[in-house]
Amino acid sequence: MTLLSQTGSRAPQTGRDFLAIETVELIKTYGSGQNQVRAVDGVNLKVERGHIYALLGPNGAGKTTTISILTTLIPPSGGQGRVAGFDVVTQADEVRQLIGVTFQETVMDKALSGRDALIVHGRLYHMPKNEIKEQVEELVKLVELEEAIDRPVKTYSGGMKRRLELARGLMTGPEVLFLDEPTLGLDPHNRDRIWTYIQKLRAEQGLTILLTTHYMDEAEQLADRVGIIDAGRIVAEGTPQELISSMGADVVTVEGSGATERFVAALKQREFVAWANIYQPEEGEAEPTTLGGTQVQIGLNDQAGRSLRPIIELAEQSGYLVADIAIKRPSLNDVFLKLTGRRLRD
Ligand code: ATP
Repeated sequence: MTLLSQTGSRAPQTGRDFLAIETVELIKTYGSGQNQVRAVDGVNLKVERGHIYALLGPNGAGKTTTISILTTLIPPSGGQGRVAGFDVVTQADEVRQLIGVTFQETVMDKALSGRDALIVHGRLYHMPKNEIKEQVEELVKLVELEEAIDRPVKTYSGGMKRRLELARGLMTGPEVLFLDEPTLGLDPHNRDRIWTYIQKLRAEQGLTILLTTHYMDEAEQLADRVGIIDAGRIVAEGTPQELISSMGADVVTVEGSGATERFVAALKQREFVAWANIYQPEEGEAEPTTLGGTQVQIGLNDQAGRSLRPIIELAEQSGYLVADIAIKRPSLNDVFLKLTGRRLRD
């Protein structure tokens, strides 16, 4: 069996013109009354087959909850979710047959060897013995665990555990793979390896992958489309390039003190300014400036070279004392900052 050999036989009879993942006004609430949390608050997703889609957002944004609903682990409180054309509530069995999932924490018995952990997973899904064997061979090569596969999982490094977890998610030859924070806490070398496997799976197998991340570079590097999620809602959606282009030409960061709000209001009146925000540090987060001042982010409509001087002049006129000014190409982090007034913290 190859990674995707089951795909054709498992295809629903209704044809192949459906999205790999679709949600309509998906809602999940936890608790009740005053303690109620709307973890997912009307999420609409459309993921094309063969795409890598990144749900990018900070801790607590609702990413894990969205994945848990789509992988049928928990029911939604409202709205609909479909995976490969099947409803995640009324056709949960069909959905489970078609998906693979890896969560942030490994769910495998760490006393087992890597190989046995994969075999147990295959048996759980009633895969025939010879298919399990073939699949293990193939996946061990993919995630480069040949040396370690017969050692107990508890002797694995964090990166090795993640790679094994990825192999486990692929054991049943899924059509759609869900990866919850696949590189959380990994060093750059191990992140790169996981990124390579993910790209390979999409390129060679045409797998649809929905991953969650709070690393903006992960979303930028890997994803065909990105949904930026905050407080249970998708606040922006598009290709990384579309999202970044929506920011204007360049982003200027000004640090200083004084009449910050007056300065920002004045900036917003100027035609070379696409948007301007005061950066609000979150509770517990270090102040953005060492001087204890404020930080203002400005998206420019124009090329920056011409616009720095007017920004400094405007600051002076508004009574804002500039301590530092920097200019850079925008990133997905700036998109998040513009939309929420907060930073995505790595
Ligand atoms: P993280 O990466 O930190 O897990 P996330 O974006 O995946 O963040 P979720 O885990 O989906 O976010 O959590 C969304 C919100 O729902 C948070 O406020 C969280 O505290 C809350 N929440 C999640 N699971 C539960 C639960 N079982 N009971 C109550 N509240 C929950």
